[in-house]
Amino acid sequence: MATLKAVRGTRDLLPPETALWNRIEAAARRVFARYNFGEIRTPIFEDTGLFARGVGEETDIVSKEMFTWEDRARAASEKPQSLTLRPENTAGVVRAYIEHKLGESGQLQKLYYIGPQFRRERPQKGRYRQFWQIGAEVIGPPSSGSESPLRDAEVLEMLATLLDEMGIAGWTLELNSVGSAADRARYNDTLRAALAPVVGKMCVDCQRRAVTNPLRVLDCKVPEDQPIIATLPVIADSLDDDSKNHFAAVKAALDAAGVTYHLNPRLVRGLDYYTRTTFEFTHGGLGAQNAILGGGRYDGLSEAIGGPKAPGIGFAMGLDRLVLTLQAAEADQSSAPPTVAKLDAYVAPLGEGLNAAALQLARELRRAGLSVELGDGSFRLKKSFEAADRTARKIVILGEDELASGILTVKDFATGTQTKVPRGELAEILKS
Ligand code: ATP
Ligand code: MG
Repeated sequence: MATLKAVRGTRDLLPPETALWNRIEAAARRVFARYNFGEIRTPIFEDTGLFARGVGEETDIVSKEMFTWEDRARAASEKPQSLTLRPENTAGVVRAYIEHKLGESGQLQKLYYIGPQFRRERPQKGRYRQFWQIGAEVIGPPSSGSESPLRDAEVLEMLATLLDEMGIAGWTLELNSVGSAADRARYNDTLRAALAPVVGKMCVDCQRRAVTNPLRVLDCKVPEDQPIIATLPVIADSLDDDSKNHFAAVKAALDAAGVTYHLNPRLVRGLDYYTRTTFEFTHGGLGAQNAILGGGRYDGLSEAIGGPKAPGIGFAMGLDRLVLTLQAAEADQSSAPPTVAKLDAYVAPLGEGLNAAALQLARELRRAGLSVELGDGSFRLKKSFEAADRTARKIVILGEDELASGILTVKDFATGTQTKVPRGELAEILKS
């Protein structure tokens, strides 16, 4: 029989690597709490229409990367429905914001999520079909201050702090403003005119985009097109005064906080509902997949999916890429494999008749907060010692005599010393 394997583009995450994932997630939760973000968990599949409207039909995500299926009705009362594994989480969060009327509190909502996303892409390093994102959204009615440039700056400052606390060094913040919907319409006209004489020399995708959505030409990754793209007009020149002032205020707040950024007038992040501030954090250690996170303002998104006016700003970071970045940095620092933390103790019963008593002793120690591995009485003493030395700092031997007297034999592998310890003091001694 052919052996079954994880599906192309998906992977198993195993210990000890998962410890690194947990460290990153814990740092994120810690930082989010300090900035008054609460966790939201939305379903991993949604009505396909949510993404068609909330991400945009024109995007790569919706036009070619979604896992979509027709979900058949199970009962006469149900209708068949097109469902999709979420390719991103902002649309789901905004749907939940609308569905639970979170805007009616009048308060700004600060929500974060950590979870898997799904895109049918060509798998390669840093690009998977199931991958993880850590993201956050700040959204609310205009009266809650959700449009304020201070919110943009706060999110960017938080990201700088978050990456620093995760130990990601050497990132670059790429920053731009794509203006309001009206600014973008004006810019699209300018671009269309500028593209007309040169688009014939560009890739087929750009030829199509030049007609449907010229802004997306700036997203093109084809190397031969880059010199042409470099000559195109920039969006900054199409912004109206409101948009210019908003962007200036974001930059002034970042300057005051000491967060450095690089202005990138070509950064447009194609989605239709992005407005004003857009950004990406990149890292040199990732090769072609150099974006560790992306985000921006989406003042029209809630209305686009049938909700009230609810300006917002958010981001999503690729957890898989954070892990790759940290692993590469670790590998640079030393060629030795990362050391795995050892347990406090290994309990070794001398004979199968002592297994039950050993479980009871391990229970006592674990309840006292110690990390303990439990051996098996069928092991010879030599095998117990070898297993213990691999996993724990100390071995506790439990034979008939120890059980009867309540005096246990403890060996410390680091010092090689063997001591007799009364059971009542064991947990304390093992902790030290
Ligand atoms: P890219 O240009 O790399 O395709 P994107 O613009 O599609 O990125 P976003 O939709 O902005 O990415 O998602 C935010 C982040 O999620 C990215 O910066 C990246 O770190 C991560 N990400 C996106 N797609 C994948 C994937 N297929 N595998 C792993 N991480 C991903
Ligand atoms: Mg992509």
